[in-house]
Amino acid sequence: MTNCIVVGGGIAGLATAHALLQTGSAVTLLERGAIGQESSWAGGGILSPLCPWDYPDAVTRLTTRGAALFPAWAQALHAATGIDPEYEVSGMRVLPPFDAEVARRWCAEHGVKLKAADNASKDLFLPDVAQVRNPRLLRALRTRVEELGGRIIEQCDVCNLVTGHGRVQALATSCGEFLAENFVVTAGAWSTQVLGQHALQLDIKPVRGQMLLFKFASPPLRHIVLQGDLYLIPRRDGHLLVGSTLEDVGFDKNVTQTASDDLHRRAEVLFPALHGMQPVQHWAGLRPASPHNIPTTGRHPQLNNLYLNSGHFRYGITMAPASAEILLNEITGAPQPLDIAPYQAGWNNTAR
Ligand SMILES: Cc1cc2nc3c(=O)[nH]c(=O)nc-3n(C[C@H](O)[C@H](O)[C@H](O)COP(=O)(O)OP(=O)(O)OC[C@H]3O[C@@H](n4cnc5c(N)ncnc54)[C@H](O)[C@@H]3O)c2cc1C
Repeated sequence: MTNCIVVGGGIAGLATAHALLQTGSAVTLLERGAIGQESSWAGGGILSPLCPWDYPDAVTRLTTRGAALFPAWAQALHAATGIDPEYEVSGMRVLPPFDAEVARRWCAEHGVKLKAADNASKDLFLPDVAQVRNPRLLRALRTRVEELGGRIIEQCDVCNLVTGHGRVQALATSCGEFLAENFVVTAGAWSTQVLGQHALQLDIKPVRGQMLLFKFASPPLRHIVLQGDLYLIPRRDGHLLVGSTLEDVGFDKNVTQTASDDLHRRAEVLFPALHGMQPVQHWAGLRPASPHNIPTTGRHPQLNNLYLNSGHFRYGITMAPASAEILLNEITGAPQPLDIAPYQAGWNNTAR
């Protein structure tokens, strides 16, 4: 097939490398630090937009396709590597305030199962929402990429694209120059930095999200619980994630006491058992934020062997298998499963 260099080893880069390798391409993945330690590690792993009715169709189509591909994807990775990404359909309880009429209509129109909660409250329950455990998914993907012959080079900082004749000729990196037929940038919040002047009008910037982790002896909740931007995600082993903040603070990945206190206080209201408990971990990640949460996935308008798969903002885990599929089809010329025009518009920052 082709030989490709993928820049950035988060979920977008690993999923893209994995898809390319499955078609027989030769793939080298260059990662500035260590694989899977940035936004993809930090995320919650809910495989759905938080309030899905709040997003444009371009987000719905990609998250819906991603969520549909996930069970088989996770299962195949588990079977091949022995690493269990802990895919689980745990369902999501959505607590008010939200516009119940809009939510019900959206679910009916999109064929999304919805149940009223079994108590007298105004909660909604989305029984088909699943979750995955990001760090394990990333480990499984990395292992599978290497098993399939992918070459992973860590501590390799891509500094510059060497271009000429409407193509990328090479990548200048901290570990030398790399040549390939095709180049895919999947550098998350750093994607516009990697593209430099070739970023055109691309608007991808970091938005910090902080998370708290608590530990119980066994799962303290049966379902994901969501209220506004606040969510609680129970893991199989009794861990409970509480997230998250949305902070426009540039590339600052520090955690803050204020955010910890605020998340903890709000989570306690939803789940009083958290009162008096100390989080066992507190971290932050930098989401690759893009307008309306619509990623840019496809070929560069001017450099015909350069591709981007980035800007997934709040839903890069959910979208991962679907946007890798679209990117692969772009490279190979295979038909697309959905209209990809919205995922090309980011280069010009045009209205979507
Ligand atoms: C707190 C939080 C909660 C979230 N919850 C969810 C959720 O529940 N569900 C969901 O679907 N999504 C969630 N997300 C969003 C999701 O995590 C992101 O959309 C996704 O991880 C983005 O993946 P990525 O591979 O593009 O970026 P990253 O994971 O950030 O990977 C980019 C990689 O590129 C590398 N890189 C950067 N510059 C260079 C360079 N010059 N050379 C080489 N490599 C480079 C970086 O080191 C990094 O490893 C959450 C995010 C956060 C922060």
